[in-house]
Amino acid sequence: MAESIPATQTVALVRELGGPVEFVDNYAIPTPGNKEVLAKVLYTGVCQSDLHTKSGTAASHEGTPITNIKLPHIGGHEGVGRIVSIGPNCDLSVKLGGLVGIRFLSRICRRCEFCLAGNEQYCVKSTNHLHHEDGSFQEYIALDADNLTILPDDIDPKLIGPILCAGVTAYKAVRNANFKIGEWVVVVGAGGGLGHLAVQYARAHGASVIAVDSGNDKREYLSSIGAKEFVDFAAIPDVVQEVRKITNGGAQAVVVTAGNAKAFAHAAEMLRVGGTLSCIGIPPGRPYIETPIATIVIKGLKITGNLIGSLKECMEAVELTRRGIVVPNVQVRPFRELSQVYEELERGDVSGRIVLQVAKDV
Ligand SMILES: [Zn+2]
Ligand SMILES: [Zn+2]
Repeated sequence: MAESIPATQTVALVRELGGPVEFVDNYAIPTPGNKEVLAKVLYTGVCQSDLHTKSGTAASHEGTPITNIKLPHIGGHEGVGRIVSIGPNCDLSVKLGGLVGIRFLSRICRRCEFCLAGNEQYCVKSTNHLHHEDGSFQEYIALDADNLTILPDDIDPKLIGPILCAGVTAYKAVRNANFKIGEWVVVVGAGGGLGHLAVQYARAHGASVIAVDSGNDKREYLSSIGAKEFVDFAAIPDVVQEVRKITNGGAQAVVVTAGNAKAFAHAAEMLRVGGTLSCIGIPPGRPYIETPIATIVIKGLKITGNLIGSLKECMEAVELTRRGIVVPNVQVRPFRELSQVYEELERGDVSGRIVLQVAKDV
């Protein structure tokens, strides 16, 4: 059944940060090296971080621009592919024809304190598919077999891509939010890629969810996936007051998933005593949370954030989708529409997640 692998492939190339996406049809297909596999990319989600990297607006942990970016750059870190070739010395868990994920993290050291603690997404020697290595916006990709995301055979490859970044990020943010069954959890930016998944994870964990977003389409969709209340930030003058009213004094947790700074500024003021502000989604630049220190101290608030999650947490999120508990809202589009998709993301026009069909499955 071994499929013949061509010598060249189509990739979405960015030659300079801030420059356009260019489709190149004669890009070399990598040969899998020692302990590497070659996967054919079937589908890939398009993440806001891809747009920031391409535009040169990606922020580091200090809020300064990330400049260590491989050029020319091929983005994409929510891919699902099929193994078409196996390099030397891979172990027996790696199977030809098996489904694999292409995630943010590419290679890790397995020795640093974060790897040892099972938080390998913080590995001090890691490389990733967002800044250092070619990602899933190409038809074929070489992957480290020792850090491979081996997916179950019975998943829907169209749905799983978004789980590998947006999904696990939202899953972990909800886990960090520290609430009990029935308590109020606010999801800000609820209709977006991260948000609609955070709503479903919060529901699955027993929360009463208040979705904050705008427009009737989002209101309807979010109530269909279990949000109890919808607060339209464009129609309501004071979102904080509205949340306090619904929750009779404040929510137990607020998960902010929006890509814009304004959504974060006063989110902690929606919390009740002992509540948790869980931040994901990184607005560009160095914006700040504007909560008064007195509020944090006197109300005993917690503020937390997370960079994606570990492979273990990723597989937990994959399992929830495999079993139909959390269903990403995906819109499948042709690979060559990536530039238009970026424009839509820039305008904030995207509900759920856009998934590109990259190469045809055999
Ligand atoms: Zn991402
Ligand atoms: Zn490490």
